[in-house]
Amino acid sequence: MSAMDATEETDDTEETGGFADLGLRDELLSALGRLGYEEPTPIQRETIPLLLTGKDLVGQAATGTGKTAAFALPLLQRMPDRSGSPRPYALVLVPTRELAVQVSEATYKYGRDLSAKVVPIYGGQPIGRQLHALRDGVDIVVATPGRAIDHITRGTLSLESVEVVVLDEADEMLDMGFAEDIEAILDQTPGTRQTVLFSATLPPRIDAIAAKHLREPLRIQVGVSKGNQRTLTANPNIRQSAYVVHRAHKAAALGRILDVETPTAALVFCRTRDEVDQLTETMNGRGYRAEALHGGMSQEQRDRVMGRLRSGTAELLMATDVAARGLDVDTLTHVVNYDVPSAPEAYVHRIGRVGRAGREGVAITLAEPRELRMLDNIQRLTKRDIPIQKIPTVADLRARQIELTSESIRESLAADDLDEFDAVLEPLLEDFDLEEIALAAVRLVHLASGAGEEEGEIPDASVRPDRDKGRPRDRGDRGDRFERGGRERFDRSERPERFDRSERPERPGLPAGTAKLFVGLGRRDGVRPSDLVWTIANVTGLSGKQIGPIWIADGHSTVGVPERQADEVIEALRATKVKGRRVNVRRFVDER
Ligand code: AMP
Repeated sequence: MSAMDATEETDDTEETGGFADLGLRDELLSALGRLGYEEPTPIQRETIPLLLTGKDLVGQAATGTGKTAAFALPLLQRMPDRSGSPRPYALVLVPTRELAVQVSEATYKYGRDLSAKVVPIYGGQPIGRQLHALRDGVDIVVATPGRAIDHITRGTLSLESVEVVVLDEADEMLDMGFAEDIEAILDQTPGTRQTVLFSATLPPRIDAIAAKHLREPLRIQVGVSKGNQRTLTANPNIRQSAYVVHRAHKAAALGRILDVETPTAALVFCRTRDEVDQLTETMNGRGYRAEALHGGMSQEQRDRVMGRLRSGTAELLMATDVAARGLDVDTLTHVVNYDVPSAPEAYVHRIGRVGRAGREGVAITLAEPRELRMLDNIQRLTKRDIPIQKIPTVADLRARQIELTSESIRESLAADDLDEFDAVLEPLLEDFDLEEIALAAVRLVHLASGAGEEEGEIPDASVRPDRDKGRPRDRGDRGDRFERGGRERFDRSERPERFDRSERPERPGLPAGTAKLFVGLGRRDGVRPSDLVWTIANVTGLSGKQIGPIWIADGHSTVGVPERQADEVIEALRATKVKGRRVNVRRFVDER
């Protein structure tokens, strides 16, 4: 597909096969059905048939594109019948504890009907529990490299039966200093294995790993812009914007944004049927008139829902991509992406539900911080800016509600059927003056619209509280700073001269929005930058790139972390051990 226009109807008629067309076995299809996945994402469509042939693969894909299922489903499909072997058939290496848990949970769910035994192993969890799980029999190990090495060294993890290795988020693993560990782990696996490498970026170091450890790998890129190779056209009548919000606050953020935007009717896209059902329930609970539309519904149910949307009985329609294909509703003013869609094409299709026939439309995207890279891809490919907005504050909401009340009253004044209310006004005028009566009436209108309810602020993940004081970040400076090279990169080979500086190293200027922490362990204690990155990433869920710069002095170290998470990091580090020791951690005070 070279070019696509959102205003064209190509998307409506386009036939896209489901998972069954990819040759997946029934046990996997049933699991996907239970999870509410209606069709493969682009990366799944491309990758699954290739991996089923047993070939090696290098895939460039960002988080959120559905890459976990893209490698896990073929892995499960090719898993031989193996009754309770303690030697895994597959090994997935991931950079962080969070990802180990996430990937192993997803793999377990996909492989439930195949009784796949999936064991996550990562630092921070008692090793005894992991030993037990490994001894009990395991098919797939999802591990962070450090902990995998620990187990290999102890002799508790044998990789001699491994047939598939997946390196997930390989660039992130390298950034965290795991290059040597990965090499050592791969050396323990049979040379006949299938090797799959996924990475959001493909710097030369990744190419080097691929050249050394993969055999004639196939290469795929999904959602990655390659010069001017392809352009998607987003309808210019559509006002686009995005909000950055953590998962826990998404439903609240959606409500707040809708309250300010006041759509006549909005279509809210979710990834899965389950998400559609849950969000519909949540939004109904919050007082919106929301309906669900997904592939699991009968035609009759769907017709009823569409009728309610067209007549205005429902104001929100929660839908999956499949269910909303071809949907054409005149009253629709807003499209909301509850998640960043897994492919830029899907984004263009979705927002094309509004702004039809020359009308204006609004497209709103809720992005979790980790999904910002995908949003960047969409902007690049559509050559349109999607500005990041600040989630409306309580004050913004109040101001908007007053505006709406005022609008309603103006509309009422414009109508010429006010005389009949004289009968209410006249007797009141005997006791009150006109202004008092007007204010009381305004108050009634205002409260009847739902204004005045107790509201709290919704945390905005695009705002750095230390500097911006509520100002949204402009695009180029959107948290990517933390993700892109905030930490000084290091290689084990470089480490000695780089970090063995004199007592008082030259301190680099700290990137804005970064807090410097003092950690009471230094070179004397054998601490290395990777120990700090590793521990912080594991106890807080920060990514490797969000941590740094790091300086190791003789008796202490300093480490930069995003200011907004500084207190959380301090607390988490105090509650854990670094190099097996409790350590003194606090904000760094420069005494020079
Ligand atoms: P990942 O990129 O693997 O982290 O996946 C991102 C999210 O998309 C996860 O919440 C998955 O459960 C979800 N997901 C993956 N594949 C599909 C699919 N084919 N349909 C709907 N949701 C999916």
